[in-house]
Amino acid sequence: MATSRLSRLLFGADPKLRRMMSYWGATAALYTVFMGILIEVGNRHLIDRGDALALARYAAGGIVLSFLVVRLGARYGLAPTGAAALQAVFGLSCNMWWYAIAGPLRGVTLMGLMVVVVFCTFALRPRQTLALTAVGLAGMGTTMWWLQAHDPLRYPPLVESVTFAIMAGCSMTVTLLTGEASKLRTRLKAQKEDLLKALDTIRTLATIDELTALSNRRHMNAVLAEEERRTQPAGAPQRTCIALLDIDFFKQINDRHGHAAGDEVLRRFADAARAELRAGDVLARWGGEEFLLMLPDTGEPEAGAVVERIRARVGALRVDGIPEQRRISFSAGLTARRGSEALADTVNRADKALYQAKSSGRDRLVSA
Ligand code: GH3
Ligand code: MG
Ligand code: MG
Repeated sequence: MATSRLSRLLFGADPKLRRMMSYWGATAALYTVFMGILIEVGNRHLIDRGDALALARYAAGGIVLSFLVVRLGARYGLAPTGAAALQAVFGLSCNMWWYAIAGPLRGVTLMGLMVVVVFCTFALRPRQTLALTAVGLAGMGTTMWWLQAHDPLRYPPLVESVTFAIMAGCSMTVTLLTGEASKLRTRLKAQKEDLLKALDTIRTLATIDELTALSNRRHMNAVLAEEERRTQPAGAPQRTCIALLDIDFFKQINDRHGHAAGDEVLRRFADAARAELRAGDVLARWGGEEFLLMLPDTGEPEAGAVVERIRARVGALRVDGIPEQRRISFSAGLTARRGSEALADTVNRADKALYQAKSSGRDRLVSA
């Protein structure tokens, strides 16, 4: 608990920032190893001890500074790209310094340059990485030129030129390759987003009725199964109600006013019913002009009141293409789940109640 609070304090809570901080952690570890090596080669007098310690101090300062840049940069609007570029430039300056003091060990600088380039591909665009490599090469080139001009015995011009040529060739190749890898990553990311969108569409298509935007029968079956699972363990009295609603003389509406008017009645019915639902109620298009309403945690009188409110609203509908004097009505069968019976049985009982509502004159609610 305390460690997670400390980690949040140090590295923030935002996942993006935490990812940047983890990159910072990796570079910090690298610099620490680098500092260890510096101190060790200084102690063994492979390079000047004072020079080694000065560079080690510079690297340590860089670790602290880059921590602040990444951690606080996000708060003050510094883009991750900016933070990465700053760290990269710092890495390059370490490399140049190291080259100038490393004497016979200076060949390993090549590796350092590659590491900086590869790190950058995580935060920079291929072009930015390329620009950074160019800056790095210019810096290294200048260092090498200065060294061979001032101390040609220790830094023979030919050796420096060949080293620079190899360094330039290798780092450009690595930059271009990592650029390709980064483009590939971008493409994969875009494909993943497209797939997620497609999955979302498929999920919608699989659960929503296209005409009314209500749940479809398949989704309602899943909702009923979920409700059964939800109410299973308690053993307490079940208070789920089920109602079946069927529009009256709908075939006549189609026949007299056209299929399009019939569709509009279905849409307007759905809107009207939806407006009367409470949170938790689920209404689905169960068949052509038949709808199933599930009311969880609801007693029968309360459920009856919901259905009556829907009846009143539907009765007041004026639908385009249907004459004003033609009132839209529906019949409904309502029942409460008994004990922990299968909800399919509850639905059957609601269906029987609906049949009674139809046979006793329609435009009414019958409870069973
Ligand atoms: P009752 O009062 O007994 O329910 O009679 P009804 O005419 O409403 O019922 P019936 O089952 O005889 O007819 C239902 C009609 O609903 C038949 C079918 O063509 C029509 N229907 C089913 N789905 C759609 C649809 O998506 N759009 C339209 N416009 N009509 C549909
Ligand atoms: Mg009907
Ligand atoms: Mg019907």
